Amino acid sequence: MQLANKVALITGAASGIGLEAALLFAREGAKVVAVDISENGQETAERIRAAGGQAHFVRADVSKAADAERMIQEAEQAFGQLDILFNNAGISHAEDDDAIHTSEPVWDVTFDVNVKGVFLGCKYGIPALRRAGGGAVINTASFVAFLGAATPQLAYTASKGAVLSMTRELAVIHARENIRVNALCPGPLQTELLMKYLDTPEKRQRRLVHIPMGRFGQASEIAQAALFLASPASSFMTGAALLVDGGITAA
Ligand code: NAD
Repeated sequence: MQLANKVALITGAASGIGLEAALLFAREGAKVVAVDISENGQETAERIRAAGGQAHFVRADVSKAADAERMIQEAEQAFGQLDILFNNAGISHAEDDDAIHTSEPVWDVTFDVNVKGVFLGCKYGIPALRRAGGGAVINTASFVAFLGAATPQLAYTASKGAVLSMTRELAVIHARENIRVNALCPGPLQTELLMKYLDTPEKRQRRLVHIPMGRFGQASEIAQAALFLASPASSFMTGAALLVDGGITAA
């Protein structure tokens, strides 16, 4: 069990990567704090408990400071400490948005959730990791931060670039405190977040031609990489951006 006796908080745990990571981390022995803005996160916690694991659901909006502070407090109250902070919740908006067509509200909400949400998770979560004597932070970025025009979603792409920069800076700041901070950079996945835009076979095919492996990734494949970053297997890694993208950034 790679995460025995560890407490892991995962945001966006109702769906996609967060759901798969919550189930996997629990199978590896972690006590899981499943956080989501959706009540469906409760089901994630129930599935873990039904399988014999320990889990606590917190309904929270990661872009709100009071919610972010409360999710960390509840984690420590429920399980006594926090060892792993997986800032994974994220949103995207409709494709075909360049600078001219991106509205100010779309820009603001994308940065509120994708960037401020990661900042607030770290603001309240890193002191908790310190109290536990160290730990691992994983921030979900994306392959889009590495490519120009990977997807025509300007606010989303810029927000993921910001997550990478924040990850590197925090990694350096906290490197001597036994706190590792890494970014997880998935490629295009078969999750709700992307498939709601690729809603026809033609649109999916247009995206698939850019992926050398010729298929979309599964959330469970990203969860495995998150487990690596959360576990002692990555003990000398900090400030890294781990691409799990079917080769799309290599092409
Ligand atoms: P998803 O839509 O399946 O899951 C995202 C979860 O985050 C949902 O349960 C949602 O309710 C929750 N959430 C949204 N806003 C929230 C908020 N303000 N507070 C708390 N929870 C909130 O998406 P996914 O594909 O699993 O994406 C997870 C992460 O991976 C995101 O950061 C996303 O940007 C990133 N990512 C996804 C892809 C992809 O192709 N799906 C590729 C690269 C990166």
